[in-house]
Amino acid sequence: MNIRSQIAMVFHLDKCIGCHTCSIACKNIWTDRKGAEYMWWNNVETKPGTGYPRKWEEQEIYRGGWEKGGDHARLRGAGKVKGLGVIFHNTNMPVIDNYYEPWTYQYNKLFDSPEGDDQPTAEPVSQITGERITPVAGPNWDDDLGGSPLYARKDSGLAGLSEAEQEALFRLDRMVMFYLPRICNHCLNPACIAACPSGALYKRGEDGIVLLNQKRCRAWRLCITACPYKKVYYNWKTGKSEKCILCYPRVETGQFPACMHTCVGRIRYLGVMLYDADQIEKVATSPDSDLVRNQLGIYLDPNDPEVIIKARIAGIPDSTMEAARNSPVRKFIIDWGLALPIHPEFRTIPNLFYVPPLLPSPAAVTDGKYDNTGSTLWDPVESSRLPMQYLAGIFTAGDVDLIRETLAKLMAVRIYRRSVNVGDISKSEAEEALNRARYTSETADAVFRLTSLAGFRERFVIPPTHREEAIEAYEETRIRKENAGFGFIEKPERGL
Ligand code: SF4
Ligand code: SF4
Repeated sequence: MNIRSQIAMVFHLDKCIGCHTCSIACKNIWTDRKGAEYMWWNNVETKPGTGYPRKWEEQEIYRGGWEKGGDHARLRGAGKVKGLGVIFHNTNMPVIDNYYEPWTYQYNKLFDSPEGDDQPTAEPVSQITGERITPVAGPNWDDDLGGSPLYARKDSGLAGLSEAEQEALFRLDRMVMFYLPRICNHCLNPACIAACPSGALYKRGEDGIVLLNQKRCRAWRLCITACPYKKVYYNWKTGKSEKCILCYPRVETGQFPACMHTCVGRIRYLGVMLYDADQIEKVATSPDSDLVRNQLGIYLDPNDPEVIIKARIAGIPDSTMEAARNSPVRKFIIDWGLALPIHPEFRTIPNLFYVPPLLPSPAAVTDGKYDNTGSTLWDPVESSRLPMQYLAGIFTAGDVDLIRETLAKLMAVRIYRRSVNVGDISKSEAEEALNRARYTSETADAVFRLTSLAGFRERFVIPPTHREEAIEAYEETRIRKENAGFGFIEKPERGL
């Protein structure tokens, strides 16, 4: 057993209101500068829809992540040999048009224009060329139109649905959408690190945050191809790649990442997970059907006496163990089985988990009128407007039963709390729902509390930083990369 600690996250999708405050908080702190205008380390996209960059989920286009080859996992489009083959001409990399050409407005014209017959206008200009442009795309261009046929039909996740299911999805009375906020997943098996020939990317030993050393980056950009979530970006001004740093300077001083601190919907949770690094290969090479269950199995119980002893031997501080025991994300992921990893079939073992959206069951349109008489908020989850297959394609590598099980738990909590708070559902019906979800009323109350009432200190549990470990961890990563990579690595510098 090779115990390590990892900062993991849960985003509760039923709570996201799509306000983009998270994205703006991140941009104001980290990417509000030349060359980074188009970058949104935190972005919020609308599903069904094609996302940012466009169609990032389609690995037939971008060749990101790992693929299972026998009992091994290999990088799909950026390994040693494949990487060398595309190093000077990489057709699997998104170009600026796949993101969008960033623009601003000529605000000065509003103030400086001479007096005339017309109102002055602030025309859009490219932030790259300075020329006038007509914007045709943005980081969430399909915002709120994601559920409309215009954009949603292009979502590759619909491919698994029957023609009839697709048609039903686009009927006006069934139209449906949800927001999907995304940041780097700070994966346990990061394709970005494995692909970098320069050893510029590394995973911090003390908390698993994945960082990119700007001094070592040589702009090969294989990390951009390799990351299947497209969460590494190229700064055209500095000639270096950049990515989400999980606000480590804030985390190290006991503050929460800016996107989480500012989240209006309070959808975000942050905490420590312990895991067994010896099992990474097993998880990454699992058949699709076992991917999620095996990933959940990699995380260790911080109350287990054997884990406590081995964690101490591995040098994990007691304060980190304490944080792992109080971890809100552990509750959602392991104790309650409510949060699932995004696209586990990319095999990077992501550490950002999502509570899937439990949308209300649909009403119908009868004789041109909205009619909800035949449906209630408490219908079985199967009658949700979003087909199970679609959600399974995003969160469980196609395992529909697991999605159904997860949504049934969310529904059980909803029914139980309705029975407690409003009383129009009988106690026995509520108990039946809880039994079906294998929940007790105490569990349902705990889920309700953390979902609805918890303050900062319950939603974010960050252990004190131990920087002395970071130096050792960096050195270890460097040696591992030197043994496995292209050998382009410079001498390490102390303190990085
Ligand atoms: S999400 Fe992408 S950039 Fe982030 S750690 Fe995983 S592979 Fe690397
Ligand atoms: S700030 Fe929170 S609620 Fe608003 S879009 Fe971001 S994740 Fe959603």
